[in-house]
Amino acid sequence: MKVQPPPANRAHEETLDPRDWADARALAHRAVDDSIAYLRDIRDRPVWRDMPREVRSSFETPLPRLSMPLSDVYREVAETVMPYPMGNIHPRFWAWYMGSSNFTGALADFLAAVQGSNLGGGDHAAAKVDEQVVNWCKEMIGFPRSASGTLVSGGSMANTVALIVARNVKAGIDVRELGVAAIEKPLRFYGSDQIHSCHRKAIEAMGLGNGALQRIATGSDLRIDLNALGASIAQDRMAGFQPACVIGNAGTVNTGAIDDLQALADLAKKENLWFHVDGCIGALIAIAPKNAHRVRGLEHADSVALDPHKWLHAPFEVGCVLVRDAAAHLASFSVAQEYLEKTTRGIASAEWLYEYGLQTSRGFRALKVWMALKEHGVEKFGRLIDQNIAQGHYLDGLIALEPLLESVAPATINIVCFRYRPPGLDEVALKRLNVEIMIRLQEDGIAAVSDTTVRGKHCLRVAINNHRTRRSDLSLLVREVVRLGREIGIRDEAESN
Ligand SMILES: *Cc1c(COP(=O)(O)O)cnc(C)c1O
Repeated sequence: MKVQPPPANRAHEETLDPRDWADARALAHRAVDDSIAYLRDIRDRPVWRDMPREVRSSFETPLPRLSMPLSDVYREVAETVMPYPMGNIHPRFWAWYMGSSNFTGALADFLAAVQGSNLGGGDHAAAKVDEQVVNWCKEMIGFPRSASGTLVSGGSMANTVALIVARNVKAGIDVRELGVAAIEKPLRFYGSDQIHSCHRKAIEAMGLGNGALQRIATGSDLRIDLNALGASIAQDRMAGFQPACVIGNAGTVNTGAIDDLQALADLAKKENLWFHVDGCIGALIAIAPKNAHRVRGLEHADSVALDPHKWLHAPFEVGCVLVRDAAAHLASFSVAQEYLEKTTRGIASAEWLYEYGLQTSRGFRALKVWMALKEHGVEKFGRLIDQNIAQGHYLDGLIALEPLLESVAPATINIVCFRYRPPGLDEVALKRLNVEIMIRLQEDGIAAVSDTTVRGKHCLRVAINNHRTRRSDLSLLVREVVRLGREIGIRDEAESN
């Protein structure tokens, strides 16, 4: 009996493509027009605003089961999402440590999604763009072309990938096969007491335990104390540990302190340690002509984590890890997969990019970096970094001129720590007052700053990683902090009477 082919014409087959391409085009044009206005008028809107109850409850509706016109979905986005941003693209957002995004990057994210390529690898143009961006990152920080690297979600993953390679190289056994329990002498990693929390997460996830990360004291400049580091390494060797890796900070998240990277490179060499630099804030200072000297020594690292979504202002997310010894990098992550065998021709004929990290599928995050670098040129990005650092010093100067403000950690780069300090208040009262100032600045939509504690002193922290900030924004901040400080102080006094 002959088998009949199934009837193709009567099957009802669906697709996600628009029913009407003309409608789709009109809506996309409107979204672009709205986006241009959104960015153009950013200064006229509050940095942040609280979401009304109706908006919050609009995010609690159940799973949509049936269809709805895209124009209605877009209207909802325009009404409930776009007006309530975190605020980091605003010229007066200086909280934590973010980038402020850029239009070209947004366009690139759209185009990348339109092409939809998977950067797990393969022979296609997106993979070439990805490789080129990694090569440009090497070039920006003075790493050799022979180094390897990969784009990841951000600095945390970049640091994690690097520390995994460091562990595997220094373990003395095949950790991938045998696991950390088989390591003879427990490994020790070193970083300053200002190190970013992602290192702790990485060390824990690597199975070494938080105790394997030694926090070394810092001097009054909040840079790692090299004598204390040397002593700790010697002590650990005597106690039967295996010193494996020293992590240098090119810009700490607390105050922007930059460890003496040249000295750390020398020490790592002498002690036979892996030298990793967390450059999520400051590695890119290497492209800033007036400040590049601050990160000298970076180019000697075995691995570097850097963050294009910070000082290159790429829209979230994109981080980058570079490893000097490409073979060691590959040896930490490569796996032979039957279903991903390389061919001599065709899509599978190129290198698999997923063999340099933990992800298999990878987004086309390279395009937003690539397009912005082509459009502006690296020199402009370097000047913007210099500009933010000069603004940090400018703000320091304003604080010095204002008797009611106290500098807590003067800016070395673009992070300024200070507090409102009227006479006669103890530390607890000062903290309460400054937290209230910080929240009022946010709630009134004036500015977003965050807070921290430096050497036991609570303070406001201003991280100027923002290409839209002008000096006038910083003088406004100083005026508003003093105004709010007075206002809250008077209210508190009235309440306590
Ligand atoms: C931001 C930051 C990180 C983490 O990077 P993400 O991109 O947020 O994952 C790590 N180290 C330092 C010094 C940072 O500033």
